[in-house]
Amino acid sequence: MSENGQKGLLIVYTGNGKGKTTAALGLTLRALGHGHRVCFIQFIKGSWKYGELTAVERFADLLDFHVMGRGFTWKSDDLEKDAAAAREGWELVQKIIAEGRHQLVVLDELTYLVRYNMLSEQEILDVLARRGPSVHVVVTGRGAGEQLMQAADLVTELREVKHPYRQGIKAQKGIEF
Ligand code: ATP
Ligand code: MG
Repeated sequence: MSENGQKGLLIVYTGNGKGKTTAALGLTLRALGHGHRVCFIQFIKGSWKYGELTAVERFADLLDFHVMGRGFTWKSDDLEKDAAAAREGWELVQKIIAEGRHQLVVLDELTYLVRYNMLSEQEILDVLARRGPSVHVVVTGRGAGEQLMQAADLVTELREVKHPYRQGIKAQKGIEF
């Protein structure tokens, strides 16, 4: 808790339903509206032309956006390169946390690094514990582990009720990417 009674939250968006990354982007937009500095780091992703990559250029004064991944790991041609990208991403997180310049830090798809044994939840919690008292952190991704959820202040699990994919509707621009 900081002097003004504010607490930097650990927020987790997990579950199989769609909306985790877009929730984090929505929160980013809200924070930017207050002039807060935001660092948004995307793990795993990297091969698609995501709309957000272009949109964020308009907020260059406040928003630092980094894409660390090489596309989805389960489609990977080279797990060693994925692991290297993940390590590089995690080093960046440590640097950002140490600098403490941002009021909101988003670690998009971070849970996959745990699933693929590139990072442990304990390591995540150790690094996040070093952040400033009013820095909010968002972690997104399916299958968040018990330890991370225990430590979090806010956990929302998005549950799939329906997804257009099941009707055979392919990923659409502006909706999925
Ligand atoms: P979004 O980026 O749209 O907020 P997400 O972050 O919740 O989705 P991820 O688990 O990161 O979803 O998956 C990324 C991609 O998979 C997105 O293109 C998303 O639309 C798609 N997706 C998400 N949920 C489902 C689902 N239940 N069935 C099929 N595809 C899904
Ligand atoms: Mg996502």
